[in-house]
Amino acid sequence: MKELLFMEPVFKEAIWGGSRLNEVYGYTIPSDHTGECWAISAHKSGDCKIASGTFAGHTLSSLWEDHKELFGSTSSQKVFPLLIKIIDAKKDLSIQVHPDNAYAAEHENGSLGKTECWYVLDCDEDATIVIGHNAKDKEELREMIEGKRWSEFIRQIPVKKGDFFQINPGCVHAIKGGTLILETQQSSDITYRVYDYDRLSDGKPRQLHIKQSLDVIEAPYKVREGDKPYVEADNEHGKKQHLVTCDYYTCGKVDVKDCWEEDFGSDFANVSILEGHGTVNGIPVSKGQHFIVPADYGCCRFEGELSFIWSQAR
Ligand code: ZN
Repeated sequence: MKELLFMEPVFKEAIWGGSRLNEVYGYTIPSDHTGECWAISAHKSGDCKIASGTFAGHTLSSLWEDHKELFGSTSSQKVFPLLIKIIDAKKDLSIQVHPDNAYAAEHENGSLGKTECWYVLDCDEDATIVIGHNAKDKEELREMIEGKRWSEFIRQIPVKKGDFFQINPGCVHAIKGGTLILETQQSSDITYRVYDYDRLSDGKPRQLHIKQSLDVIEAPYKVREGDKPYVEADNEHGKKQHLVTCDYYTCGKVDVKDCWEEDFGSDFANVSILEGHGTVNGIPVSKGQHFIVPADYGCCRFEGELSFIWSQAR
């Protein structure tokens, strides 16, 4: 009988971070400028440990190496493919872009590229984010970036709680202040900073990556209508939403009203409890917990009033 693998998150401080990871989820955080909770991660910059059970104290990367049976068909991939984060942006994150696998493999020592998606957990009433830009082609892109015409360049849009965004490689983006986000992404930390509001960190500006940004930014920006979420099931027991399916992952969200059964099949799934509390096959779970459902685990029966986001690698 396989066990659910509960995670011990890893926390990252940032100049733009805050204290909501403690206030909202009760995590013990290193300071009041904590930006990220790496909730399910086997990345070398933040490798989560298993919190309990047979594998207590083992890192997720060591299970990926030594216990392929837990992970199903994606276990042939070199590294654990996904990274699940909660991001507390008290202030604006830099305007940035990520490379795809091909560019990262060539220019970043064989690292994965980064496709990511955001579910807005909470935000200020007037919060916005940056997705895309207004340059009509690569030439105008270069002119706008080199001329520092930032307000003209960025495409800023309003956000509200429950919004969902898929961010493909080459898409300029920034999480803005006042936003709490659950991010599902490829396990990569390759970020090219285009603009950082001329901020100083420890007295120095953070490094920008203009050449790489110009290489990878897609111009013009295209809105992808296919990335919109839709409702898969809605009944007296709960509601299931499909958020996105791309080359690297499928994500969904379930709001459980009293009980809900979900079988993730022959591949592992990442599950993050976002709201409420209850049980999974009798094991108590509550808001802020993250676990992996191993491959071929069988049915997960959620009982209680809770919401969770799940993802499966592809
Ligand atoms: Zn990003």
